[in-house]
Amino acid sequence: MRTEQQGGDERVLHGLGVSPGIAIGPAFVSDDGDIAVPEYRIPADQVERELQRFAGALNASLKQLRKLKGKASALPDSAAEEVGYLLDAHIAMLTNSRLVRGAERRITEERVNAERAVQMEIAEIGDSFAAMGDAYLAARGEDIRVVGARLIRNLTKTPYAALQHVAEGTIIIAEELTPADTALMDPRRIAGFAAVLGGPESHTAIMARALQLPAVLGVAGLLTEIKSGDAVVIDGGEGTVIVNPRRETVARYEARQETLEREGRQLARLKRLPAVTRDGVEITLQANLELARELDQAMAAGAEGLGLVRTEFLYMNREDLPGEEEQYEAYRGLVRGMAGRPVTIRTLDVGGDKLAAPLTETIGGDSPNPALGLRAIRLSLKERPLLDAQLGAMLRAGVDGPVRILLPMVSSVAEIRKVREALTQVARRLKRRGVKIAEPLPALGVMIEIPGAALAADALAAESDFFAIGTNDLVQYTLAIDRGDEQVAHLYNPLHPAVLRLIQFAVEAALRARIGVSLCGEMAGDPRFTALLLGLGIRDLSMAPGKIGRVKQRVRALDIVAATRRARAIMDQLDDARIASLLDDFNALA
Ligand code: PEP
Ligand code: MG
Repeated sequence: MRTEQQGGDERVLHGLGVSPGIAIGPAFVSDDGDIAVPEYRIPADQVERELQRFAGALNASLKQLRKLKGKASALPDSAAEEVGYLLDAHIAMLTNSRLVRGAERRITEERVNAERAVQMEIAEIGDSFAAMGDAYLAARGEDIRVVGARLIRNLTKTPYAALQHVAEGTIIIAEELTPADTALMDPRRIAGFAAVLGGPESHTAIMARALQLPAVLGVAGLLTEIKSGDAVVIDGGEGTVIVNPRRETVARYEARQETLEREGRQLARLKRLPAVTRDGVEITLQANLELARELDQAMAAGAEGLGLVRTEFLYMNREDLPGEEEQYEAYRGLVRGMAGRPVTIRTLDVGGDKLAAPLTETIGGDSPNPALGLRAIRLSLKERPLLDAQLGAMLRAGVDGPVRILLPMVSSVAEIRKVREALTQVARRLKRRGVKIAEPLPALGVMIEIPGAALAADALAAESDFFAIGTNDLVQYTLAIDRGDEQVAHLYNPLHPAVLRLIQFAVEAALRARIGVSLCGEMAGDPRFTALLLGLGIRDLSMAPGKIGRVKQRVRALDIVAATRRARAIMDQLDDARIASLLDDFNALA
């Protein structure tokens, strides 16, 4: 997260490389300029509610600005100071200011919706500043417009719809991109993206890898250094963004792009070869699916099944909820596409950084601690129609091929029992209506991604049919590191002994109970960890389709006996650095 002056106009910005690949193209700096502002009247008895909605957006905007201010301190001194002043000014404009008081008054007295109230107030303040004919005040008028646009964006929760209309080959530059914004990116038009905020295991990063879009997150200074139309190079492996690259720089990155493509073609040749270790142990490599359109990639990569279908994609970028029928069609498409290979579909896992617009009211977008709030299975059990629609769709899709049902964020046995009961009820109801469903009922498994669940794995194993270890959340909750926060990304360590012990404990509980266990966190797709995970007894890994080739290559070079011995030695260690060196030394040799 440094800025380097390279002479001439070329500048190099550093961030976190979260999705490998090189993108070269013109920048599009996504701002909030053209949000469509809804306009309607508020009935008298809804004024209080509208004021609360406004307060929620105000709060969200202030939080974002404070986060950006924290980030700005990573910039070189003069830039840090300048950006810091600007953000302070924006924060002041949202704190008991004319803008805030005026918008509140319009909601209360004129009974207009909050978005429109903000828009009217910005226009009035802007006009009065302009009338004074002073350049300084004119600039403040522009600041008010920018701050107001942030407020409106937080009120409407508008995704960056503009991203769909950019010219081919564009690189998106933004303050922050949600997973839903990212899902709207068409890789045929967009070459890559970079943002000021976001960590390497955030869902935005996972979405970028799913779309195979080169991406760099956590880049301080991005918005002050780049304007729309600037030439930009993104290296999503190294984590660099180069603005106005010199000709030699472009040539160097073009060559790198060719090398990566060549490597990709070589890995694709592994598709037909089995994932078997040198000493003959077969390993199952499956695909994680973020979006239905990844099905082709999963097949092309030779995935032996879908180990994790994140159903959130069905809930993104829309105002209503998908019903059973729509979900059935989507799941059946995946099941048929996989032609007899297992498909593990996870019930909705929204909350934390994965807010689905139609559910924000239910979840309460301003939960004091969203990562620990009403999310995932907790939400499904509270909103039974939501769960029943999903279970019904999964049961029906199971007629066309092997479906398994996976529950996210399970922390107790009671949750599994409740879902099993719901599953039986939904099955009975469908059968009564003469609808065909999978029989016997699909296997019901749980994600092991909360430390308490890993420690109670023996109890959970007695009630579930399989485990899927989710290391993304397991690391987050064990080490208290927000997986989406670039400021603590350097502390996010899957090799921490606490994390490894929890994985080991869960795997052993599954093996003792003779139930299947897979690992589907991002660790599964990183060949650096393959020997350790196999050494701990895992034989089933699920990852982004694009990662399967490299992991298969690693599996085929490994000897299980040696990997198991090394895993044992690693588990005797207490120090993360020693663990890392024992693993890296082993990887360098075998
Ligand atoms: C995980 O937490 O490791 C996981 C696979 O689930 P998600 O990334 O969707 O939270
Ligand atoms: Mg998770």
